Amino acid sequence: MTTRHTEIASSLRAVRARIERACLDADRSPDEVTLIVVTKYFPVRDVVVLINEGVRDFGENRDQEARSKFQEVRALGHDIRVHFIGQVQTNKAASVTAYADLIHSVDRHRLIPALAKGADRAGRTVDCLIQVDLDRRSVSDDRGRRGGALPGEVLPLADAIAECSPLRVRGVMTVAPLDEDRDSAFGRLADIADGLRSAYPDATWISAGMSGDLDAAIRQGATHLRVGTAILGSRPPLR
Ligand SMILES: *Cc1c(COP(=O)(O)O)cnc(C)c1O
Repeated sequence: MTTRHTEIASSLRAVRARIERACLDADRSPDEVTLIVVTKYFPVRDVVVLINEGVRDFGENRDQEARSKFQEVRALGHDIRVHFIGQVQTNKAASVTAYADLIHSVDRHRLIPALAKGADRAGRTVDCLIQVDLDRRSVSDDRGRRGGALPGEVLPLADAIAECSPLRVRGVMTVAPLDEDRDSAFGRLADIADGLRSAYPDATWISAGMSGDLDAAIRQGATHLRVGTAILGSRPPLR
């Protein structure tokens, strides 16, 4: 085993133990929680190490990087799931739907027909999560801008997704606000998820929790965690 393999295997083990502990504390089964390893900025060889360690779900946030990386990984014959977790530019929607199984970041109406067209052309069904911006309280409030719909926009967006047959509404996603207690923020997301699920029973996914706050996310009902740094180390600075 290479040093890098040993390093990744060991931090992956630590994160899995942390997830189990948080589930135990929250009286939840670890089977309810899926770990998505965020591999943005990291090379194919790291992805292959992760696959050898039993990881199947991968998250990426940049179209060009994700497309070529996972084309290569799939060409090696690996059966994996790719989650697109970054903001989707409308003109990149078709590209993203060609390789992503799940899009965590649907946050505006304009994107939906573009995604549907791409999914149609690729002949695949694409699962969609609605990204919620818990920072912004109104349409005119522009802080944060990490993407995401207002809580009140979630149901109308779900309705629009549901009308497009190659797309499926599966739940909600958020990146917690920096200035709010994590349990409070993820608790708000859980309430929004409840509301969505009463209209769309299949919308059971709650994508929340990253390296720094996955424990709080698990306490508040997250079903999918997106973890990068805690497993792969610091990302190289933005180019
Ligand atoms: C990069 C990224 C993550 C992973 O964050 P870490 O702090 O490295 O675990 C999770 N979610 C989104 C949307 C990201 O862009």
